[in-house]
Amino acid sequence: VLFLQGGASSQFAMVPINLLDDKSEADYLLTGQWSKKAVAEAKRYCKVVNIIADTSDSKFTTAPSQADLALSSDPAYVHYTPNETIVGVEFAYIPETGEIPLVADMSSTILSRPVDVSRYGVIYAGAQKNIGPAGLTVVIVRDDLIGTANENMPAMFDYKIHADNESMYNTPPTYAWYLAGLVFEWALEQGGLPALAETNKRKAEKLYAAIDGSGFYSNPVDVSCRSWMNVPFILANADLDAAFLEQAAAHNLKALKGHRSVGGMRASIYNAMPEAGVDALIEFMVDFEKRNG
Ligand SMILES: *Cc1c(COP(=O)(O)O)cnc(C)c1O
Repeated sequence: VLFLQGGASSQFAMVPINLLDDKSEADYLLTGQWSKKAVAEAKRYCKVVNIIADTSDSKFTTAPSQADLALSSDPAYVHYTPNETIVGVEFAYIPETGEIPLVADMSSTILSRPVDVSRYGVIYAGAQKNIGPAGLTVVIVRDDLIGTANENMPAMFDYKIHADNESMYNTPPTYAWYLAGLVFEWALEQGGLPALAETNKRKAEKLYAAIDGSGFYSNPVDVSCRSWMNVPFILANADLDAAFLEQAAAHNLKALKGHRSVGGMRASIYNAMPEAGVDALIEFMVDFEKRNG
């Protein structure tokens, strides 16, 4: 387990730099804005990036099924994004890739629920979403995938150098690392990840139920792959968006504006958002609909 800098965005490069070894191809699932960025970066290092699933036709509101995945003949690894943060699409299963290492960008999923780490070759996550502090990147690498970095690349991009130096090859992001430790202790005090998962599931389910139960709000994502963490929704009348955001903010319900690429609203309900915060949002939404619906 490495505690690095550079964000998930640096891992978009570090993954191919470390995992390609003597191969030249990798497989990517293209399911949203973040996997798109991962693909773009991988193209700098891989001779061929095989897009083995592409949900852009649905405007990234669906996830491919296992049966849709056609692995290429000799990829170094398979990369996917279990939770696409912007549209709020989440895989309900872990892709089966046989002997091929599976790489996951868990920036917006890590710590939301238990994860079977043994299924993965590499898991990486910017800490700023579900762990909390910005400036720290957690990377979990299977032992046999360490030590095969391309030597022409910067030392700072070599998993082995970080692993050999216990993530202190250079000055680590000490304060963010310390804060993450406090969050891990907090998570254990809550009952660990099974307890956090229960709360997160409940938070998401009640918010989706409120959206689906109204004729005023809607969520575009296929119900089979809705995110627990990021819940986008739109109003029946987009002219009310500004009033919704303004009045929500007046109720201390902040940062609800959707990502600029999709518009509407988005409630990111990471671990730091207590269930009472979701309840308050639902209460406000019901009231706003009564006044404007
Ligand atoms: C936020 C996010 C990123 C970008 O993370 P940085 O640490 O800012 O580079 C990458 N992937 C996903 C899934 C994200 O949610």
